[in-house]
Amino acid sequence: MSLSAKVSYTSLVLLVLSSLGTIACLAVITVYLSYLTPDKASPVAVIIALTLLTIASTIAAAINYCKKYKAQSVSILIDNARSIAAGKKPAQSLPASDELSELQVIYTKMYSSINRLRQRERAILDFAADGICSLDSNLRFVNVNHSLVSMLESSQEHLIGSRLASLLDEGALDIATKSFSKAQTELETIRFMVDVHIQQGCAKLSWSVVFDPDKQEYYCLVQDITSQAKLEQLKNEFVSMVSHDLRTPLASIELAHGLLSSEDLSAEAQDTLSIAQGSVKRLMALVNNLLDLDKLEAGSMSIHQAQKYLLPLVQGCVDALSLLAQQKQLTVQIQIDPTIAAYMDEERINQVLINILSNAFKYSPRGKTVTVSAFRQNQIIRVEITDQGPGVPPEMLSAVFERFKQVNKSDKATGTGLGLAICKAIIERHGGQIAVESQSGNGSTFWFTLPINPDALETNAS
Ligand code: ADP
Repeated sequence: MSLSAKVSYTSLVLLVLSSLGTIACLAVITVYLSYLTPDKASPVAVIIALTLLTIASTIAAAINYCKKYKAQSVSILIDNARSIAAGKKPAQSLPASDELSELQVIYTKMYSSINRLRQRERAILDFAADGICSLDSNLRFVNVNHSLVSMLESSQEHLIGSRLASLLDEGALDIATKSFSKAQTELETIRFMVDVHIQQGCAKLSWSVVFDPDKQEYYCLVQDITSQAKLEQLKNEFVSMVSHDLRTPLASIELAHGLLSSEDLSAEAQDTLSIAQGSVKRLMALVNNLLDLDKLEAGSMSIHQAQKYLLPLVQGCVDALSLLAQQKQLTVQIQIDPTIAAYMDEERINQVLINILSNAFKYSPRGKTVTVSAFRQNQIIRVEITDQGPGVPPEMLSAVFERFKQVNKSDKATGTGLGLAICKAIIERHGGQIAVESQSGNGSTFWFTLPINPDALETNAS
């Protein structure tokens, strides 16, 4: 039975009983009084008044009862809702069965569902391969998952409540503190890398941090990149060692080939010699490219930027590659305003242009057109090299700028797969961007941007 029905039923029964009782008593009194007094009017008036009073007091008692019951139930429900919000089981239950107790049942079910979700979330967090933790505003661990515990070679009991600072040295703590406060002020995900002390030495950890202003807590995703960093270092050391060690013998082979070619050799020997010369040239290009890339990525290649006109630079590159263009009967169109200048290292941008242009010539079918254009866009210059070659498939549009990524296996015979990676590194060192747009099978447009002047560089950076 519902609460209101129950209350009205109770009130009615009370009302009827008390009214009947009162009326019966009053009837007896009236009969008695009518024998005593000749005037019967006044006892009747008294009876009516008393009856009304009884009805009113019964109604008031019923309303009061209803109010008290409701207040008590609502207070229990509020306490239970607070328990659920705090992640605890609702403690009390309602005495009667009505709408409010139905609400109580819903609360209990809600708690069970939330609890199940919590347990599932905990399991996901614990079994995640990456470290996950939350830290309070004083950078103390509030929660840590199993992966982070094993990354830090510690225990959950030891970590929870301890400060992140206890795992870091001064330099790393400085980086971490600045990154955490940046996450708090900018309310964005901030990434940083620090070396963390563990029992077996030091682990290189990559952190992604986001701040929750409501809970005043930081949520962190932590990845152990120690072995990745070691591998990268080994690879770089290997590349520089091999490149340096190969350059000298290759240079002497090239010299010996040059001397040999001036000798009077049979046609067969000449053919073999030119194949050998081609192979050495390709090897030399590969070694030089590797060294360049190595220097660019290590930041040890110096870039000397100055404001330079673009047209003479592009013209020089087209001239340098004119033999290749002639062999394929290509038309080269240059659409650049002579007043366009950019803030660049001429030698490095020359390298970029030669690489993109030679690719455009290499991949263009015979008799097609290659267009080089440049135009100003606010504070930057955009240079575009468009060809009518096979184009780059959509899934390779960004991959072609990675080391050794080539669209076709056959490209290996004519290139090293390093040219565009070098171009990307050079353009990014200039503060610009590089990309390719292409409809596969319908040519491609490689474009890059350069700042107009040093101020543009600062505007871009900010
Ligand atoms: P590669 O020495 O092989 O040319 P790059 O880094 O310069 O190395 O280019 C990487 C790959 O991108 C090339 O092997 C080729 O598959 C693709 N590519 C570059 N330029 C073009 C182009 N203009 N048209 C079609 N594919 C291209």
